[in-house]
Amino acid sequence: MSEPMFERVALIGIGLIGSSLARVMQRERLAGSIVACARRAETLAAVQRLAIADDTTHDPAEAADGADLVVVCTPIGAYAAVGEAIAPRLRNGVIVSDVGSVKQTVVRDLGPHIPDGAHFVPAHPVAGTEHSGPEAGFAELFEGRWCILTPPPGTDPEAVKKVGALWKRAGMTLETMTPAHHDHVLAITSHLPHLVAFSIVGTAADLEQDLRQEVIKFAASGFRDFTRIAASDPTMWRDIFLNNRHALLDVCGRLLEDISRLQRAIRWGEGEEIESLIEASREIRRKLIDANQA
Ligand code: NAP
Repeated sequence: MSEPMFERVALIGIGLIGSSLARVMQRERLAGSIVACARRAETLAAVQRLAIADDTTHDPAEAADGADLVVVCTPIGAYAAVGEAIAPRLRNGVIVSDVGSVKQTVVRDLGPHIPDGAHFVPAHPVAGTEHSGPEAGFAELFEGRWCILTPPPGTDPEAVKKVGALWKRAGMTLETMTPAHHDHVLAITSHLPHLVAFSIVGTAADLEQDLRQEVIKFAASGFRDFTRIAASDPTMWRDIFLNNRHALLDVCGRLLEDISRLQRAIRWGEGEEIESLIEASREIRRKLIDANQA
């Protein structure tokens, strides 16, 4: 049998994304052993029950000790503390990566803790669901999706290649970009749609009790789709919004302008303007279907 890609892998955080990655590594035999780290006993009990790791620990430093790959899979707000905890235990040649949905603050929070002799390869597998925790994970989550790598300038190309190879085995296609570009692209494609979903569902929840029941009863597919997105984890999304503040506020401002434009066209009965705005959005949907990303 061929050697696994990594001897010992530490997954710091083992929720939807970490546990899906663990399942891929088991399926593909990519790790000699996997150690999973989380704060709560119930999380680690679930990991043991699901048998998706060889060892479990509450201590990020213990997890990182001796690992040749450490992947941080916690909400982004925990990164600085995790970095500080693991730093003294990182061995020479280790690759430290992550799965965070924002990349500039990951470089800011984790980067300074990576010692000389360790390789830092931030990554974002752009795949997910509205569910969280180790039970929610599945190995096929990443198939046919993009994984964006944002290695700092001067990162060892072999380490970047190895992290890329890992995500390719998960079925992902790779793209490399700067952290700032990543954050701008994701602000519009992922963070803004979530912001809109939380707001729309919040607006409905603010209506009178009677009306709210009607909203639930007659939830047509439009509202239903928003409630699915709005069911996402509050901690994770709080961290994404606060850590991608500038790019998100920029695209949010543009959205408000576009809503005003549509609002004005409706007020003044400008049917052609409304039709052309909708036609332009349909075109985007067609392109998405053509690109196999629908
Ligand atoms: P999740 O299901 O809520 O899992 C988070 C995991 O981190 C849990 O195992 C949690 O367990 C653990 N954790 C939290 N704080 C910790 C700490 N301080 N030290 C150690 N473990 C800690 O979240 P997720 O959806 O997998 O997201 C994880 C990361 O992936 C986030 O950075 C997110 O931006 C990114 N991401 C998410 C998606 C998505 O759609 N969900 C997609 C791509 C990337 P305990 O609570 O027991 O500690």
